[in-house]
Amino acid sequence: MFKERNNQFSVECQTKQANNCIQFGEYCDSEEEAIDWVEDECWINSGEGWICIRCHEYFMSNLYKIRVEKGVKKEEAKTKKKDDEDGTELFKGIETVL
Ligand SMILES: [Zn+2]
Repeated sequence: MFKERNNQFSVECQTKQANNCIQFGEYCDSEEEAIDWVEDECWINSGEGWICIRCHEYFMSNLYKIRVEKGVKKEEAKTKKKDDEDGTELFKGIETVL
């Protein structure tokens, strides 16, 4: 999770998934300072490491896309069901009138 260079420490992005991933935080004199830096930059602590803000955005937008796709399918299913119910009710209504 840390990258050491010339006795300085940098927090490494855990995932490096985004094309514009920052990859490494700023090099600091200690690991604690390196963590302070990434916290200031709003990196996300995953519990096992740190995810840079750009990778986090990348994951969130992917998650959003998945949610939207699922949401659309759910909405379609709901609409279809509603149509069927309406059809039945209409049919029943006609029957009653007759
Ligand atoms: Zn990253």
